Amino acid sequence: MTIQYVSQWEVPSNSDPTKTYKVSLTEDGTYQCSCMAWTRHMPRRDCSHITQVKANPELYEKGAPKVYPEIVLANVDEVKQMPENKLYTPLVPVGGNPMIVATVMYDLLKFGVPWGVIRERYGKMISRSDGSPPSKDTIIANVTQHGRVIVDREKSSFMDTAYKTVWEGRTL
Ligand SMILES: [Zn+2]
Repeated sequence: MTIQYVSQWEVPSNSDPTKTYKVSLTEDGTYQCSCMAWTRHMPRRDCSHITQVKANPELYEKGAPKVYPEIVLANVDEVKQMPENKLYTPLVPVGGNPMIVATVMYDLLKFGVPWGVIRERYGKMISRSDGSPPSKDTIIANVTQHGRVIVDREKSSFMDTAYKTVWEGRTL
């Protein structure tokens, strides 16, 4: 599974100038580092590289933030990758099979849309009993265990009445 980063920086090691560590800002606003001081320490605490990046991000910044694919609602059965970084995304039936929504969320995740964007858009449609959206792991687990469920337009003209489960062995 790919973790989405908003920004990434290369920070030289203090002890060995030929080495660099990757500091990453994740979509939920937390920082990660590839060095052992960060990866081996629980609970997490900022290492010197993260502290350096937080103090002077322009000194280390490398490249522009990632450009995420654009969600375009379209008359498709499942999420399809289109030119110009667009994702044709099916309209999901309100009150229909929640696995259709879960499948769309799963597919958008697979094609690189940040979880925060997906949750904002679809989380309420399949919220848990307390009204909170499902977690990313729940969506991935559900779809990998039960298959992708997409609208079957050959069976019915009513979007919310006919589905098919598709096993493609896809993994994130
Ligand atoms: Zn570090």
